Amino acid sequence: MKRIFRFPLKQNIGAKAAPTVVEGDKIVRGQLIASVGESELGANLFSSVSGSVTGIDENEIRVQADEVQPAEYRKLSGSDPLELIREAGIVGLGGAGFPAYYKLKAPFKTDGIVIVNAAECEPILGHNIAAIEKNPQKLIRGLQIVMDIVHSSKGVVAIKEVHSQAVEKLRETLDDDRIRIALLPDMYPMGEERAVIREVTGTLLGVDTLPLDADAIVVNTETACRIEEAVDSKKPLIEKDMTVAGKLRGNTDLIRIFENVPIGMSVRDVFDMAGGLADEYGEIIMGGPFTGKRVQLDDPVIKTTGGLIAAECFMKGPEKLGLLVCACGAGRERLEEIAKSMGSEAAGVEYCKQAHRVKNSLKCENPGKCPGQVQKVMALKKAGAQALLISNCTDCTNTVMSCAPKLGLPVYHCTDGALRAVNHKLIRKIHT
Ligand code: SF4
Repeated sequence: MKRIFRFPLKQNIGAKAAPTVVEGDKIVRGQLIASVGESELGANLFSSVSGSVTGIDENEIRVQADEVQPAEYRKLSGSDPLELIREAGIVGLGGAGFPAYYKLKAPFKTDGIVIVNAAECEPILGHNIAAIEKNPQKLIRGLQIVMDIVHSSKGVVAIKEVHSQAVEKLRETLDDDRIRIALLPDMYPMGEERAVIREVTGTLLGVDTLPLDADAIVVNTETACRIEEAVDSKKPLIEKDMTVAGKLRGNTDLIRIFENVPIGMSVRDVFDMAGGLADEYGEIIMGGPFTGKRVQLDDPVIKTTGGLIAAECFMKGPEKLGLLVCACGAGRERLEEIAKSMGSEAAGVEYCKQAHRVKNSLKCENPGKCPGQVQKVMALKKAGAQALLISNCTDCTNTVMSCAPKLGLPVYHCTDGALRAVNHKLIRKIHT
């Protein structure tokens, strides 16, 4: 059966790409199908399959894939490393989707540090660590390319100590005096960009500052690896590594890692690659349990897709739930969506006092260092909450758990459905 691949024109922060193909065109794997101007904040888009363009509208390009797909791809035409990163359409693949070219095009004024964020912070997700274990050299080479582009003499791979095998592989492979490994504690949200900078450099950036203010550039693990592919193999960004998990048929292998899933493939087809969905499941989450969003089976894999999780069926909630929102976890809208699926109404909404609104998103003042949540819990109780639904980091969840049960408030966490589906320990009190 010929499958349809869907390529949304906006998969990144910045401008939407403009189609460079028309309906009816025969295209090949790796062909440019939508582009942005060189000076525009945005990212080019390439087809991950050979086939025919069957539809174009203001939001996406649809391609009917040929039944037999080639292993080769159309190579990029540039030769300069930074230009190849721009041409390849590489964006931040940890979920942010910021065009990599724009992050790297202004080199440090003096010397700065380039940090690879290998925290793999979200529970369940494991594709970045798997990639390091399989080919640490690729990551290191990607880091070296970035260091050369921005004229940096200091590189760091920031990785949780708990990933001991990946740390060992990196240590065995590293033969560049300019690069060191920094070990991170195993807590959420250690992968938040400012948390990584804080742990590596000792500088806590303000919520409205950029890494460059600490003379730092942070790139995600897969981003560094795809940069290596663009520069050394002239490969455009057409594939994504990801973790597929949860309510899968067979119920034995609940967490699967897939390399090089073609961008544009439907969520349904990805689950089929993993053996198919179980008969019963709750929501389908794209991303990790904390920050992922609900998607439909016909939705496509995009550049920022790092996980697909079929969550456990929803638990029945009480009539009124109090929502406590974290800057680094599920936002208000997502908590409201989960509450509705539990059959509950929101009795009130409170925000962690370290969560500050910056432009259109929330930023945490000091990620993962709890300011105490007792006041917020009491406010929700006063608003009529019979239980809480929270999205807090591990440290803050501890303080919620230290007071909510005493007030007779059961606690649900935004990650519960995903974690239950893979028999993972729930995010609750972690210190005894
Ligand atoms: S301190 Fe608050 S806003 Fe920051 S990560 Fe923890 S719960 Fe989220």
